[in-house]
Amino acid sequence: MPDTSTARCANALEEALSSVPFYRRWRPIDPGPTRTLSERLTALPVLSKRDLRAHVPHGFARDGCRIGDGFTSGMIELVATSGTAAERVSIVWHQPWWDRSEREAARLHPALDRVFARPHREAVLTSPVCAGNLCHVGRVPMEERTVGGLLFLNQDLDPTTWDGAEVRRMAAEIDRFAAEVIEADPAYLAILARRCRLEGIALRPPEVIVLTYEFPSHVHLRQIARSFPGVPVVSSYGSTETGHVFTRCEEGVFHENTATCHVEVQPLRPGRGDGRLGRILVTTLDNPWFTLVRFDVGDLARRHDGAPCRCGRGRGLALAAIEGRLHDLTFDGEGRAVSVKRVDDALATVADLLGYRVEQSGPRRFLVRFSAEPGCDGAVAAAVPAALAGVYGPDAEIEARREAALAPERSGKFRLARTTFAWDPAELFA
Ligand SMILES: [Zn+2]
Repeated sequence: MPDTSTARCANALEEALSSVPFYRRWRPIDPGPTRTLSERLTALPVLSKRDLRAHVPHGFARDGCRIGDGFTSGMIELVATSGTAAERVSIVWHQPWWDRSEREAARLHPALDRVFARPHREAVLTSPVCAGNLCHVGRVPMEERTVGGLLFLNQDLDPTTWDGAEVRRMAAEIDRFAAEVIEADPAYLAILARRCRLEGIALRPPEVIVLTYEFPSHVHLRQIARSFPGVPVVSSYGSTETGHVFTRCEEGVFHENTATCHVEVQPLRPGRGDGRLGRILVTTLDNPWFTLVRFDVGDLARRHDGAPCRCGRGRGLALAAIEGRLHDLTFDGEGRAVSVKRVDDALATVADLLGYRVEQSGPRRFLVRFSAEPGCDGAVAAAVPAALAGVYGPDAEIEARREAALAPERSGKFRLARTTFAWDPAELFA
């Protein structure tokens, strides 16, 4: 299918280079409009969170957008993103653009499209520090956590500390609110789903579940599927900076939201990746208040190759998978990058595993902290190293250690894998 998003992105690039202050410094590097869009973009630098911190808000607004007037009139606001200190930035939030990005991304899955075609009620379950300006930490009544059609359920930094009363409260609020959508961090929803099942608390099924905020592990997905049989579970990928970027369709392929962005996947250099794994770089379209070109979101993806997706959507980039955060990479004995997804696919074979975190301390040394169903510790401790030997190599030393519970990081995210030594992400890319 011919694709107008390339032409729209070429226009957006031209506009950024000529009339957005930050990008004027890139103009001398641009090979110019006689070259293809891909060649032009590849020649340019990657936009980092450091760049945002240094130049928000004025650097990324198109000439003629008066930032001061925008704030005064309520057209835009500053929103802080979540994450570690190194990841956190302030961005310029323009609600109409965000709403459009969300609505267009919903068209890429029929269950989402049905619900988003009308006003609907959505219960949000994530870290209370993940929801921009709308988050609530500490006990406040349901009415104060309800903003229009949105209800923010969680009030605690660590969901492994939810007591029975909190679990019952959230289940009761989902029911009372009659949520048609549950939008959740998969780790948080998995914990709620399992607790409700064990304690015999009914969970009202929504029309659709949307998973976002962090990588959905098989250990989370199976808890969610057990508690919500028959409810479609849709993966949505985006960020506070970029809006909604990919939606996983009913055939399991991630489709690009070409209405509001253009995506490149920059492969890892030969010898460090397998040619199809790369980092996600996003160029936003049609947001005059906040223009991003080649923004490095910090996540990895794998291109969908071969035949077009069976769902029939042929527009834009298609991904076979989103594979987790760049900073959560580990490495095999040959120094090749191992994504979170690769680790997670291997551990999907381990029955009764509830949560895990792989910590690599040397080229061949790994500690896997895990939590498991009661009475299954021994079997899980034996199965985990066997499952990961195929990923890290037969000479990898893998120790599995049971933990009572695995808490999230201060950012609110559950980190599934990491190294305990420093490495330079830039070194992975040509
Ligand atoms: Zn598809």
